Amino acid sequence: MQTLKHDLVVIGGGPAGLAAAIAAKEAGCDDVLLIERDRRLGGILNQCIHDGFGLHRFGKALTGPEYAQHFIDRLDALAIQRMLGTIVLSMEGGHVLHISSKTGFRRISAGAVILGMGCRERTAGAICLPGTRPAGIYTAGAAQTFINLQNIMIGKRIVILGSGDIGLIMARRLTLEGAEVEAVFEILPYASGLPRNIQQCLNDYGIPLYLSTSVIDIHGKERVTGVTVAEIGPDRRPVPGTERHVACDTLLLSVGLIPENELTRGADILIESRTSGAYVDDAFMTSRPGVFSCGNVLHVHDLVDYVSEEAETVGRNTAAFLKGDMRPAESHIDIKPGNGVGYVLPQRVGGEKDFVLSLRVSEPFRNRAVLVREGKRKVKRKKMVRLHPAEMIRMNVKVDKIQDAMSLEVSVE
Ligand SMILES: Cc1cc2nc3c(=O)[nH]c(=O)nc-3n(C[C@H](O)[C@H](O)[C@H](O)COP(=O)(O)OP(=O)(O)OC[C@H]3O[C@@H](n4cnc5c(N)ncnc54)[C@H](O)[C@@H]3O)c2cc1C
Repeated sequence: MQTLKHDLVVIGGGPAGLAAAIAAKEAGCDDVLLIERDRRLGGILNQCIHDGFGLHRFGKALTGPEYAQHFIDRLDALAIQRMLGTIVLSMEGGHVLHISSKTGFRRISAGAVILGMGCRERTAGAICLPGTRPAGIYTAGAAQTFINLQNIMIGKRIVILGSGDIGLIMARRLTLEGAEVEAVFEILPYASGLPRNIQQCLNDYGIPLYLSTSVIDIHGKERVTGVTVAEIGPDRRPVPGTERHVACDTLLLSVGLIPENELTRGADILIESRTSGAYVDDAFMTSRPGVFSCGNVLHVHDLVDYVSEEAETVGRNTAAFLKGDMRPAESHIDIKPGNGVGYVLPQRVGGEKDFVLSLRVSEPFRNRAVLVREGKRKVKRKKMVRLHPAEMIRMNVKVDKIQDAMSLEVSVE
């Protein structure tokens, strides 16, 4: 089998892979190869024809393809090598990649690797959805692919389970395409999508959102004819007597995303159970030296602007690693989530430079503060009016505040 050699291989041509490859090349890494299994670059953005991308970065609401094109143009201008229609099948020891394309199987030996494989949606099986499986059950992203990329309408009378952002966006899209969206049912007592999407995709179109409610049965033999929904109690069980039938021909699932880390696991890279992504330090380096991770494969982002920013940092760090400018830290400070915090990222830092701490709260709060502390010593405190699991919180932490720290805990006060 042919073995190719490259200084840096970036896996995935979505916004994370694109920004990381560009930043690495701009930081002096000349031999960058980007591998994408699809026939085109852009990742999930290609199917997101709604606007709302790039508000932070470009100060305007771009569509997904417009946002991606900005990076593809820069990739072209820098003449960064790419292999499209090529899938990375496995990573041996993190640095030897086995790839497959129309031209056959090949091996690539890489000085450094950036993981940018994105994530996939939870399916009916993944959430153990009760009931039968007639035609008419789609994940929201699959429905988006059918409608936006293949011009295929998926149904006329729709029920959406889960209030994740993709489901909310599809509620609006389906309404605009002439379907009747009966309701969105959410098992949690709060919506899991961004407040702006609740307003713009449901409220503006009069689509009801029922919280603490879930689908407990699916009806129909060939095609979905309806679902039974019921209120869900604090014990996470259906409340007896609250069951009702909702007629529909389509059930859309918007019940969460799973970072696509099969390659990462296969290379024995440590995975953090809270993010389902790699365990990383403040350089976004995984437990395998020279393998970095960014974007949705690392942790699910709500805004693509932050994906690009994170990936650019990773690209620069990888270039520094390849130049030998990145010294391994002599010791590490572990960062742990405490009360009210779902996850933190990075999970450990070298304590030699300032870093950005990303986190999500585990439930909604109002008028609270996020506190970073070492034992009883306060390192950083950020007061916030609204804290919501759907919105990632970012905090800059100064290195002089963590001198001599052994570990840090982040909690909601
Ligand atoms: C439906 C939907 C709507 C969204 N709406 C908004 C919005 O309105 N505003 C906003 O800011 N953000 C939005 N987002 C979020 C934003 O799109 C994501 O945060 C962003 O696309 C993540 O970028 P990524 O590069 O990490 O992943 P992806 O875009 O998923 O890209 C990953 C790429 O890796 C490739 N890949 C995976 N495995 C392999 C392999 N083994 N070999 C080769 N290639 C591989 C995939 O084919 C894919 O192209 C939305 C996301 C979705 C899913």
